[in-house]
Amino acid sequence: MPAEVYDVVVIGGGPGGSSSACYLRQAGLKVLLLEREHFPRFHIGESLLPYNRRIFEEIGVQSKLEAAGFLRKFGAQFHLGNGSKGTKFVFKEGRFTKFSEAIQVERATFDHILLKHAAELGTEIHEGWTVKRVEQGSEVAEVQAVSDKGEAKTFKARYLIDASGRGNMTGNQEGIREVHPRLKKLAVFGHFKHVKRDEGPKETDTIIVRLDNKWFWLIPLTAEKTSVGCVMDNVEFGTLKQSPAEVFQRFVASSLPMRERMAKAELCGQIQTTGDFSYRNKSFYGPRLLRVGDAAGFMDPIFSAGVFLAMFSGKLAAKAITETLKKNDDPIPRFQAYERRVYDSMKFYWQMVENFYTTPFMEVFLEPRKRFDMPAAVNAVLAGELDGGVGMRWRLRLFFFIVRMQARYPLLPRISFQ
Ligand SMILES: Cc1cc2nc3c(=O)[nH]c(=O)nc-3n(C[C@H](O)[C@H](O)[C@H](O)COP(=O)(O)OP(=O)(O)OC[C@H]3O[C@@H](n4cnc5c(N)ncnc54)[C@H](O)[C@@H]3O)c2cc1C
Repeated sequence: MPAEVYDVVVIGGGPGGSSSACYLRQAGLKVLLLEREHFPRFHIGESLLPYNRRIFEEIGVQSKLEAAGFLRKFGAQFHLGNGSKGTKFVFKEGRFTKFSEAIQVERATFDHILLKHAAELGTEIHEGWTVKRVEQGSEVAEVQAVSDKGEAKTFKARYLIDASGRGNMTGNQEGIREVHPRLKKLAVFGHFKHVKRDEGPKETDTIIVRLDNKWFWLIPLTAEKTSVGCVMDNVEFGTLKQSPAEVFQRFVASSLPMRERMAKAELCGQIQTTGDFSYRNKSFYGPRLLRVGDAAGFMDPIFSAGVFLAMFSGKLAAKAITETLKKNDDPIPRFQAYERRVYDSMKFYWQMVENFYTTPFMEVFLEPRKRFDMPAAVNAVLAGELDGGVGMRWRLRLFFFIVRMQARYPLLPRISFQ
């Protein structure tokens, strides 16, 4: 009997893979999702953006997320590491922002809810299966996978979605990954109890503390638990020759706001590290393949856009494949349009990230000019607004123009990290 041919095989069951599968199932397609782990599993990336909400509603998972009781996030704060300056964004004050709150999530629970939802919509899910290789033939694509019990199998599909995250399954197979030359970073992080929080609605804000060449995140996860991490240069971490826990404590101790917030903190579990970020693949598609989320590209988590971009690209990938199967025509023009759209969305955040590591950007970012409503435009970016229209775009251009000017002339007060 010939092997069953799926409409789509999705590689990876993170937010990118689950959302792709949900949209594909809503279009009535036959979908197999292969995930190498068994859920629930730990994953970093816990602060979501308000615009995730639109996707949650479209795939019908919003009520399940509400029932799970995740903390609601209403804004984000950015502070200098010496405590001399800071700025707070409240999403509902954003003139271009349609969604005014997000959630902070433990990814083990969040990703599991999404994966189970994809299964309830009719996705066939095999956990504990690692995809080793894919071949894109003229009629079908073949996916060679191995289970954690050692069973090897080849699955066939008309199209593939690679949502393997930073595992970058097909990008690595093709050798097309390009690492950002100036952003070779590593994160050292853990979950803590008794981290000092603000009072009132700001209690659940994501807090970013920017030191000279590194930054901390503080993300409240539950009433008790806060995720705290530090992103720094790979090279600096290597030259310190200290354990991750020692490096973490060293940089906490070097910053006034971090010392204050972490004074009574108690580590739950262990300090962990992860590297390998800030890259993109040269192409986001193949003849029978679309790459979504981190499997397309990922850059530095400073603006908490990773999960949103993974789910947003999952939605666009599902749409491109659904239309191709419906019309039974050449997928390539649609795949190229997909790549352009996803690339533009990622570029938006990449530009912010590259600038974030410069001092003039921080000088303007911490004191945006109210006169032109620039904070509203920046606020919208932080919320995940990608289509804010002309009004938002010219304000962002103006913002970056002022950053360039600030590099030459002190239009705004200079800052110091010491
Ligand atoms: C330090 C750090 C902090 C971050 N903080 C945030 C944040 O606050 N907010 C935010 O939105 N984002 C954050 N991110 C980014 C976020 O984690 C990712 O962008 C997001 O998880 C991408 O989703 P994804 O579905 O593309 O990939 P993933 O969530 O990584 O899912 C990929 C899945 O594919 C599976 N897989 C991998 N290879 C294979 C294979 N060969 N076969 C089968 N399965 C496979 C993996 O097991 C995994 O479950 C952070 C990232 C880092 C590194």
